[in-house]
Amino acid sequence: MVEPKYKRVVLKLSGEALSGEKGFGLDENTIVNISEEIKKLQEIGVEVSIVVGGGNFWRGRSAKEMDRTTSDYMGMLGTVINALALQDALEKINVITRVQSAIEMRQIAEPYIRRKAIRHLEKGRVVIFAAGSGNPYFSTDTAAALRAAEIEADVILLAKKGVDGVYDSDPHKNYNAKKFQQLRYIDVLNMGLGVMDSTATSLCMDNEIPLIVFGIDKPDNIVKVVLGEKIGTEVKE
Ligand code: UDP
Repeated sequence: MVEPKYKRVVLKLSGEALSGEKGFGLDENTIVNISEEIKKLQEIGVEVSIVVGGGNFWRGRSAKEMDRTTSDYMGMLGTVINALALQDALEKINVITRVQSAIEMRQIAEPYIRRKAIRHLEKGRVVIFAAGSGNPYFSTDTAAALRAAEIEADVILLAKKGVDGVYDSDPHKNYNAKKFQQLRYIDVLNMGLGVMDSTATSLCMDNEIPLIVFGIDKPDNIVKVVLGEKIGTEVKE
């Protein structure tokens, strides 16, 4: 039996990662492919929790005239749509899941309760965290850092679309951009690298949560990372 490097993980899936080629909304094939990889993690005994983004529907800061708080709540609702889509795809392949929402909506998801989330993980259920942190002015990256700290995850797996790690400049614009194998959080902050927003980065740094940034364009990367294969960029300390 293969030994995973990490026992309990938070997988951060951006909304974009679920939108496939379209770049907006949901792509069912993409979600099925990602779900199959998540099932493999569960089969090798990894406790999997997922924080889903919502940028494939709405980002709070993109509003021009709208009240920012209202706009952020709309973004959080987008994450709930993604969470339900992922839950559906996972349950179709017999992976037992629970969606926990940071904003109460009892008819469609459990409320977020830390101890209950941990219990689900211990029982081998995949826990999908929806509605970010429940607070405006935050991102789902920050929610991933927060949940990882709360459930004492071993690592955050930051799955990115269109890029396979952290670079010193935008690899889509600069042909000579250099990819980092390893980084420290303080360097991410000092160099202003666009890994996560600074709130999320600080939270990870202060709580010593390791992070692996990797590309989701090949969904089997999720399993490779958990088995310890050196792909993407590792950020720690
Ligand atoms: N959001 C929020 N608080 C949170 C998490 C998310 O207000 O704790 C809102 C925010 O407007 C954000 C949107 O939800 O732009 C979607 O989340 P995010 O942009 O992090 O999604 P991703 O880029 O990962 O798809």
